[in-house]
Amino acid sequence: MSERRHITVAGVVQGVGFRPFVHGLALKNGLAGFVLNDTAGVTIELEGEQPALDGFLAVLTEAPPPLARIENINCSIVPPTGESEFRIVTSHGDEQRNVLMSPDIPTCEDCFKELFDPSDRRYRYPFINCTNCGPRFTIIKDVPYDRERTTMECFRMCADCAQEYHDPANRRFHAQPNACPRCGPRVRLLDFQGRESAEPDALFAAAQLLSRGAILAVKGLGGYHLACNALDHEAVRRLRARKHREDKPFALMARDLNAVREYCIVALEDERLLSSLQRPIVLLRKLEDIPIGDAVAPGQRQLGFMLPYTPLHHLLLADSDLILVMTSGNLSEEPIAYRDDEALGRLEQIADYFLVHDRQIHMRCDDSVARTIDRRELIIRRSRGYAPQPISMSVPFVQPVLACGAHLKNTFCLGKERHAFMSHHIGDLENYETLKSFVDGIAHFKNLFAVEPAVIAHDLHPEYLSTKYAVGIHGLTKIAVQHHHAHIASCMAEHGLNGPVIGVAFDGLGYGGDGTIWGGEFLVTRLAGYERRAHLRCVPLAGGDRAIREPWRMGLSYLRDALGADPLFLGLPGWDGIAEKKIELVTSMIQRGLNTVQTSSCGRLFDAVASIMGLRHEVNYEGQAAIELEMAVREGISESYPFEIGASSPWEIDLRPAIERLVLDIQMKVSVNSIAAKFHNTIVAVIVLICRRLRETDGLTLVCLSGGTFQNGYLLERLVPALRSSAFEVYLNRQVPNNDGGIALGQAAVANAVMAGGR
Ligand code: ZN
Ligand code: ZN
Ligand code: FE
Repeated sequence: MSERRHITVAGVVQGVGFRPFVHGLALKNGLAGFVLNDTAGVTIELEGEQPALDGFLAVLTEAPPPLARIENINCSIVPPTGESEFRIVTSHGDEQRNVLMSPDIPTCEDCFKELFDPSDRRYRYPFINCTNCGPRFTIIKDVPYDRERTTMECFRMCADCAQEYHDPANRRFHAQPNACPRCGPRVRLLDFQGRESAEPDALFAAAQLLSRGAILAVKGLGGYHLACNALDHEAVRRLRARKHREDKPFALMARDLNAVREYCIVALEDERLLSSLQRPIVLLRKLEDIPIGDAVAPGQRQLGFMLPYTPLHHLLLADSDLILVMTSGNLSEEPIAYRDDEALGRLEQIADYFLVHDRQIHMRCDDSVARTIDRRELIIRRSRGYAPQPISMSVPFVQPVLACGAHLKNTFCLGKERHAFMSHHIGDLENYETLKSFVDGIAHFKNLFAVEPAVIAHDLHPEYLSTKYAVGIHGLTKIAVQHHHAHIASCMAEHGLNGPVIGVAFDGLGYGGDGTIWGGEFLVTRLAGYERRAHLRCVPLAGGDRAIREPWRMGLSYLRDALGADPLFLGLPGWDGIAEKKIELVTSMIQRGLNTVQTSSCGRLFDAVASIMGLRHEVNYEGQAAIELEMAVREGISESYPFEIGASSPWEIDLRPAIERLVLDIQMKVSVNSIAAKFHNTIVAVIVLICRRLRETDGLTLVCLSGGTFQNGYLLERLVPALRSSAFEVYLNRQVPNNDGGIALGQAAVANAVMAGGR
């Protein structure tokens, strides 16, 4: 008895080899019917015997193609038509805009084998790909996703490639970037003046140059990298000097997991993350006495490793057998270079040679960064490999929302129905280039996902470029969201929480709206609003941005607040190196309140402590002092410092007793490592105590931890168990960063809750 079923599949189901998979599966089960791509995703009709139909559905549900992400399968019984064949129906029209788009995918195993198989026609071809792997997001110019709307449009497929492309049984059926050495993109090796090398094998020649200590600009998937041999200390130092990057760590690329294991501790969960489809840079604890010099990641106990994710990387690493520094191709804080003309101009001062190719990058996309904590992934930068995969929302958006994100580490978010489309990493919105990439990125996302926002959410800070952008757009409902409210909401949205929860938002700086700058906050939070219930005691932040670059200014603030004393008379380490005049000047700024704001920032507290301890008085990248303070911690110390909690609401957390004791420890020559541990333990104790009090007063047991301070591994590894053993349910950001890179998701969730509440 024949039966016919109508099946619709939603999710990431286009451009991932879904139709050939369905085709093959139908043939295997002896089923007739058709499959086609449409607005909702994929529609399938199947006709045949019931057991065969059930068998088909079981495989589709349990073992779909590797890159597909099925969100929903709908199945209904329809009258049989007597069809006897199975067809792939090619779709026309431009109605595919509700379809989710795949991120860029690393070289799959099949392509990897062909790449190194001398008998394959794509042997050593650096652009080999198939429906299971290859570029997507970075080459797509418009939707629907087909070759004419990607940067592959200018390459005409040769007869062999076209044959694969049209064969439903082939792995390259409708693989839009399909190419081979005869018809596809090519690599070229140029010197810094743009002259092409005469070497027949550009990749092999590039690998040789790297082995000999050269610095290469390498065009990758989402932009240019600057590469050099990580074990060549001189080359690494030269790269630092030319790039004007003093201490910020460089990322590394190794050919495989075994190579990474020679330098770092790689736990099982790290292995999984390193070889995941996202292929982020993974921060790993480094082993003792390794030949990678300190210049790669000065002052760090960790190294950031990634595995090759394009065929070009595989070839470069196989040919050179090196560990490569692969840092983003830019000068200091500019966005990563991705257009060829621009890259040559901007990087000629840094690179000795350029390894380029003629497949254009349409969307710049930086490498993602992650680490594992508590055996699970913690994202630090969510970009290549993740974007533009949406975050699924438990509450649908009542109206389409654009959230503009934060000032630093900006990402934006477009929300529609149950999807929050988080952008790739845009960067610090501090220069024209980055602002342009923010504005262009929003236009691109609006088009790709057919979102026309009715509501625009932005930070409370009136001077942020993202706020000005939002305010400058006419006709939309604008919703200003407090920075730390957004942090907590980002965590709540990820976990489908509506609140109220105890939100602990500890980070650098965020506009409070009360004339002070926040950053050590306990907010009883619902998505639509919050109450500030406790915060770190405010101290003066003197000199605006300079107070961030020069942690000793915060050290001075805290010392004066706690001891009322001049640090020069305390005999603190390194303080004699700071000009007395400067200290006098900042002291008088603090006393007279000149160019000074009050802040409860936890990030600035870490800065202050790092400086008081003499670890670091000036920084050259964001968070450096706090990271070095974390690195100074010795494990196995359980003591902490005393603190007090004020009685009036919001409770003031007074760390003056802690600072006093900490200074005493320094004077008593207690080791830096123990002091650092005791300070971290104090922060854990503060958070646990305030959470307990809020449970007493408000009966709340859910705790959301968000904000950049919680990137601190030592802190998190102690805090989470401490809260759990006090019977709290603890939530952390997992899909978006807990730093400002995740703010946009929180803004979108808050705006939606406010709209749903009918304001
Ligand atoms: Zn492949
Ligand atoms: Zn070809
Ligand atoms: Fe923040």
